[in-house]
Amino acid sequence: METQQTEKKLCYFCQNKIEKIDFKDAYLLRRFMNSQGKIYPPKRHGTCTHHQRTLANAIKKARTMALVPFVAR
Ligand SMILES: [Zn+2]
Repeated sequence: METQQTEKKLCYFCQNKIEKIDFKDAYLLRRFMNSQGKIYPPKRHGTCTHHQRTLANAIKKARTMALVPFVAR
């Protein structure tokens, strides 16, 4: 695991003390997805491992509810 502090970027969710990511918050989720509906790699936003996993779950759920697009290929 890389825990080097080369980047000062902080996890958005840690910063805002968001423990549970609301999958209904499509606007927020979209910020962590590219135009094709893919989730950006955690490094891009400095999201920590814990929240990246939570985020991925929220996005998965949001996709099921058709709130955010599926990965377009
Ligand atoms: Zn975090």
